[in-house]
Amino acid sequence: MSKYFSIRYKNLHPYTPGEQPQDQQYIKLNTNESPFPPAPAVLDAAAEAAENLQLYSDPRSLELRRAIAKEHGLSALNVAVGNGSDELLNFAFIAFGNKKAAFTYPSVTYGFYSVCLNVNTVARRSIPLKEDFTIDPAEYLDLGTNIVLANPNAPTGLLLSVEQIEQIVAANPDHVVIVDEAYIAFGGETCIPLVKKYPNLLVLRTFSKSHSLAGARLGYAIGQKDLIADVNKVKNCINPYNINRMTAACGIAALEAEDYYQQNIQTIMDNRNFTALALRRRGFEVLPSAANFLLVKPDFCTGEALYEGLKDRGILVRHWKTSRIAGWCRITIGTIEQMTKLIGAIDQMMAEKTEG
Ligand SMILES: *Cc1c(COP(=O)(O)O)cnc(C)c1O
Repeated sequence: MSKYFSIRYKNLHPYTPGEQPQDQQYIKLNTNESPFPPAPAVLDAAAEAAENLQLYSDPRSLELRRAIAKEHGLSALNVAVGNGSDELLNFAFIAFGNKKAAFTYPSVTYGFYSVCLNVNTVARRSIPLKEDFTIDPAEYLDLGTNIVLANPNAPTGLLLSVEQIEQIVAANPDHVVIVDEAYIAFGGETCIPLVKKYPNLLVLRTFSKSHSLAGARLGYAIGQKDLIADVNKVKNCINPYNINRMTAACGIAALEAEDYYQQNIQTIMDNRNFTALALRRRGFEVLPSAANFLLVKPDFCTGEALYEGLKDRGILVRHWKTSRIAGWCRITIGTIEQMTKLIGAIDQMMAEKTEG
């Protein structure tokens, strides 16, 4: 730290992203990216948009917001767009939180929530997950704080129903409830239709996971127009041109290639079933996932040993050392070839263990 670093940030704890080796040496099953490339039309759209990079992008991102709104039968006034949904989380925490207006989230969830609330000096509360890693909606009624929930939750993959989400939103009318649907395409039901009824609901989505655009950085928020105007006001104070021309073009083209993405999503769900079954047969505990990853617990070794053993064999998965899930690893679902290699590597590890 330099002597110039602001003292207000002396307790900063940055987010630790999953490893991002840039040499393509590993089978990457650690950050929930899609194993499939963007649709060909998306690449064409990016190339075409690049021809005008001397010009600023549209600070209102109107064409993109209209395209997203149309997808959900809403208006552009119901849509804010961000440089990844991470940026929208930041805007929303600034817009709706402060030292007194806390956000509550589950004790095991997306690590960026606490990090981003902390840097914005927004008060934080967490509620422990149940023994079986589920969220009990009854514990989120009339909390007296804002709420942020990932649905399905990460890294558990467990899903709340729309009815359960509605129960929470309806019971906290004086506070904002952010529902982060980063993984909703992989088997969940979206709560976006509830936006019409509830002025306190903000739903976040991302193109990173289901639409093969993690590297383009594009997310969006859906809500009633006043809530969206608040998010956009903060956006205009921090990063008015937050969506670059290529990313906006990619988003619009991706929405037009929905068939391609639906096919990929179906393949990932099939591969998820294949992997869950193979791991259960090998004695793993596997949480029932509605996302493009599985949280799994080996019984032949520790979570850390599984992570290390797979890394030695060229496969990266995610492991957290210091929490309730230390015995577990999160494995992103890739192609069937990648999943077959994963199972092969695990068989090797189990065989070496038996040979002692
Ligand atoms: C990946 C992820 C995000 C961030 O997505 P970006 O749009 O890439 O910033 C947000 N929330 C959850 C739960 C995620 O897993």
